[in-house]
Amino acid sequence: MDLEVYREALLRKKQELLGGSGVRPLQATMENNSRQGDMADQASGNNEVHIALKLRQTDAKILQAIEDALQRVEKGTYGSCRDCGHPIADARLKAIPWTRVCINCKEKQKA
Ligand SMILES: [Zn+2]
Repeated sequence: MDLEVYREALLRKKQELLGGSGVRPLQATMENNSRQGDMADQASGNNEVHIALKLRQTDAKILQAIEDALQRVEKGTYGSCRDCGHPIADARLKAIPWTRVCINCKEKQKA
C-alpha cells in the first residue's frame, strides 16, 4: 500500500471541503434560476440546491474523519480496520480514503 497516495488524497479532499463551503454552488444555482425560467432548468436547479445542502451537513463529519485518517497515516496505523484490526481493502480506501472500518465491519454496523 502506498501511504503517500492516500495522504495526498486525504489532503486534497480536505482542501476541497475547506475551499468549497457549499456557498458558491448554491449562489451559482440561484443565479441560473433567475435567468432561466423553464421547468427543466428549475428542476435541475432545485436538485443541485438539495445536494449542496446535504453535502454541507456531512462536510464537518467527513472533515473530522479526514483529520483522524491523516493522524493514522502519521502513526502508521492507516489502513487497518478500527473494529477488527484487519487491513482495509485498497479498493475501499481508494473510494473512501477516510474510512475507519473494513467492508465487513461496515456491513455489520448496518445490520
Ligand atoms: Zn473490520
